[in-house]
Amino acid sequence: MRSAIGNVRGGIAMAWHSRAGKRINPMADDARVTSIGTVGAGGTRRVGIVLKDGVHGVIATEPIGIGETILEIRGVVVDRPSRYSVQVEDNLHVELPGVEGLTGSPDDHPWRYLNHSCAPNAVVSGLALVAIKPIGRWEEVTFDYNTTEFELSTPFACRCGHCGGTVIRGFKFLEADRQRGLYSRLAAHLRRKLPAPEVP
Ligand SMILES: [Zn+2]
Repeated sequence: MRSAIGNVRGGIAMAWHSRAGKRINPMADDARVTSIGTVGAGGTRRVGIVLKDGVHGVIATEPIGIGETILEIRGVVVDRPSRYSVQVEDNLHVELPGVEGLTGSPDDHPWRYLNHSCAPNAVVSGLALVAIKPIGRWEEVTFDYNTTEFELSTPFACRCGHCGGTVIRGFKFLEADRQRGLYSRLAAHLRRKLPAPEVP
């Protein structure tokens, strides 16, 4: 997740802002692909890290179809959230090893650069980031932090362009209708907090 001052999240560092849905050309002068990790099913290289306007993000380096695994969220598991962690269970958060200062290689933990969007093209399922829309090459990959995080350690004002600037604070703070509306995209630990939707 990102920080207001510039960037990085990894999960949840918040203050960075997503340009979800906007395609980023990493070959542009003001952007660069810092690294391409070997991640995803079968070790396929599927994503790269882009730095644009001082903000990191994750982009697809090949077309990714609906339901396909984009990358896996690997790290150390801790019992409380940080700016960079991704919640995978009640009281369990995947964190960057040695989170202080983000000194590791982007290759190792590309998920830390994932931006939030209120209209994302991916969801977290277990420890995998899975596409819920077709994702084109060089398109930014995003997910909705409210679908994994019960309560963010560092709330931030969203700039995804779809929500009008909502403050993202975590699932706990969403109105009931919004919580239910996210049902199909929620990580299992949050889905369990809701009654199953009625089948028409
Ligand atoms: Zn938004």
